[in-house]
Amino acid sequence: MNDHQDRFRRQIAFKPVGVDGQRMLANARVAVVGLGALGSTIAERLTRCGVGYLRLIDRDWVELDNLPRQTLYTLHDAEYHSTKAIAAASHLSAIDPTTKLDPIVADVTHKNIRKMLEGIDIVVDGTDNFEVRYLINDACVALGLPWVHGGIVGAAGQAMLIEPDHTACFRCLLPEAPPATAAGSCDTVGVIGPAVGVIASWQSLLALQWIVERKDQDPSKRPSTLTVFDLWLGDVRKIQLHRVPNCPCCHQKQFPFLEGKHSTDAQVMCGKNAVQVQVPSGIRVQLQDLARKLRGEGDVVETPFLVRFSKDNCTLTVFADGRAMVHGTEDPAVARKIYQRWVGG
Ligand SMILES: [Zn+2]
Repeated sequence: MNDHQDRFRRQIAFKPVGVDGQRMLANARVAVVGLGALGSTIAERLTRCGVGYLRLIDRDWVELDNLPRQTLYTLHDAEYHSTKAIAAASHLSAIDPTTKLDPIVADVTHKNIRKMLEGIDIVVDGTDNFEVRYLINDACVALGLPWVHGGIVGAAGQAMLIEPDHTACFRCLLPEAPPATAAGSCDTVGVIGPAVGVIASWQSLLALQWIVERKDQDPSKRPSTLTVFDLWLGDVRKIQLHRVPNCPCCHQKQFPFLEGKHSTDAQVMCGKNAVQVQVPSGIRVQLQDLARKLRGEGDVVETPFLVRFSKDNCTLTVFADGRAMVHGTEDPAVARKIYQRWVGG
């Protein structure tokens, strides 16, 4: 038995995986979109299972209040304002240096999602907002890629494997996004770490199962099952879904999210008193130059991945790709003005 087989011997001993399944995991290419509470746990689980290639996509940095749930990150990451994609890759390579890791610090948008999913076998959803989920759904249905949806608020969550043309898609499940106030959010309702771990592990299991079974199983027999958990009550339910006749996405192949018809250049971050501003076209941001320019105007924190500038009651965080987060306002116009004032555009 070689080192690789020795590491995974208990997983190989589990018959549905076996030696062949372990080889398929080693050859699998998975994208994890969002590396917050769900995504960072999923990335760790899949690395530990022996998935050979992981593309790690996240736009954010690690903060102190992430640490109760986001078990991959450390206090050092929070103090150093490490971006989640880079921090995750660093911790995962310490777990298994043979895993190929491709960290991407960026916001997933209709402009870049096709490229981000290039060469990927399956996508796992670690996001926390509906707009990105609809975008992932559009892209995956358009590209014929399976994806694993998961979501959690409080101690209640859900997860589902979506295989285009075979199972219900995300818009069959939820034709329109609920209003932000109805859906609640992790900022207003809270969320607890052990519940996140259950949903993330369930999503990881669905991805693992798809990888090891895809050759043997007829995809038309793939169950269209949403699993819903109320973990505080210890309640787990399986809901059988059906593809919705005339679903605009998986039947009519209309992809408004992928075509950018639903996206905005300034996105209000619900409950965070913050707005994300996309980089205006034509603007190129050099973080070092920007930090130099802002020093003397207010407090500046500079890392290789971001520059954070605080003045009055606003904090502006600018990433290497030019995107910024403006804390201290929920008004997109104000956020854009602050961006233009200090960065340009
Ligand atoms: Zn559908």
